This record gives sequence, structure tokens and C-alpha cells, in this order.
Amino acid sequence: MLYSRRVMTEAIAVALLGVRAKIAAAAAQAGRDPATVTLVAVAKTFGADAVESALAAGQRVFGENRVQEAQAKYPALKQRVPDLELHLIGPLQTNKARDAVELFDVIQTVDRPKLARELAKAIAATGRRPRLFVQVNIGDEPQKAGVAPGEVAALLAECAQLGLAVEGLMCIPPADLPPAPFFARLAELARAHGLAGLSMGMSGDYAEAVAHGATHVRVGSAIFGKR
Ligand SMILES: *Cc1c(COP(=O)(O)O)cnc(C)c1O
Repeated sequence: MLYSRRVMTEAIAVALLGVRAKIAAAAAQAGRDPATVTLVAVAKTFGADAVESALAAGQRVFGENRVQEAQAKYPALKQRVPDLELHLIGPLQTNKARDAVELFDVIQTVDRPKLARELAKAIAATGRRPRLFVQVNIGDEPQKAGVAPGEVAALLAECAQLGLAVEGLMCIPPADLPPAPFFARLAELARAHGLAGLSMGMSGDYAEAVAHGATHVRVGSAIFGKR
């Protein structure tokens, strides 16, 4: 048990070094300061021990796709490590909006007016103000979460009216197509709306996302292993 814990901690530390190096190389090649790219370590399905290992290696920003899983994993860790920053990167049901506002520092998946309204209510009720990204269904895929590219402007207007400051856009490109054109499209949308944040890129394509201007890359399996 102790042995396997040490092996896991070392494996995660080595993987993090590799991912950070690749981000730095991609940023340098694009003429960007690597410090402008935040690595969000996606720990979904892995236990708090994996998060502890990443914390020991200096990682502070984590992503989770389920509110309930995060509620089980992070409250104690957050108490002990006050600068741990937790991002929600999975779909959010309106009835979990308040729980999400209470736990997460960043909610990346605002994708519809009803959710924006529930978040505004929860923010007013709790006094907590997580940073927000709007998730865009950049490939206009029928089953996928995210607001359609053509409806981004209306959703941003609704958020502004509710007093919600949106920091950027987030996307998951279609799985079966080269991601670069979708990264470029998301970057263009963000630019058009004067938004600085761009959350795009996962284990398979984060270097490419950095080349296209990603400010946040969401990397899971390349750090923690296969799920
Ligand atoms: C799981 C997940 C990731 C990380 O995926 P990997 O391929 O393991 O890096 C990134 N973004 C979202 C929204 C996810 O659900």
C-alpha cells in the first residue's frame, strides 16, 4: 500500500513535468509566455490520493466533471491547501447550481440562460462568486453540451444582464475530426466578444490548443493515467 502510493506519487510527478514541458514548448513556439497557460489537472474518477500526489508535485489547479464526485473529494483538501483552485468542466444541472457555486472556484460549463439565472441566484444567496466560462458546442453536434456558436452572443448578453462576469469560452471539439479548426473558431469567437479566457485542449491535443491561444488546458489521462 505504502509502496504503491509512493509509485503513484512519483508517476504523477513525472507526468506533470512532461505535460508542463510540452505546454512550455508549445507556448514558446507560438511566441507566448508559458505563464499565460493554466494547466487544469482533470482528476475525475481518480481518488483524493491522486490529487494529493499532484499537490505534492506543485499542481494547484484541478478539474472535475461531476459535482457529487467533487463534493466527496475536495472539501478537506481545500481546507488544507487554501490555494487549491477547483474547476467544474462537466455539465451542470440547474438543481446543482448552488452546490457548484459553494464548492467550485471556476465553472466552465455555463451553456444556457436557465443555468445562468440559477447561478446568479446561487451567487446572490451564498456570496460566493466563482469565475465563469461559457461552454460552446463548437462543432454544432446534436448530442453535445454547450451553447450553439450562433447563440453565444445572446447568452453572453443574458449573463451580463444578470451581473455575471464571463471570463472566457470553453469547448470540446468533435472527437473524430482534427481539432485545430475548432480551436481557431473558438479563439475567433472569444476575440469577437472581447473575452480573454480560452479553455480548450485535452490530453490528445493540448499542445495544438496552446498554439491556438488556449489560456486553460484540461488534461486528465496524460497526468493521472487511463480511466
Ligand atoms: C475528462 C475531460 C477532460 C480530460 O480528458 P483527457 O483526455 O483525459 O485529458 C477534459 N475536458 C473535459 C470536459 C473532460 O470531461
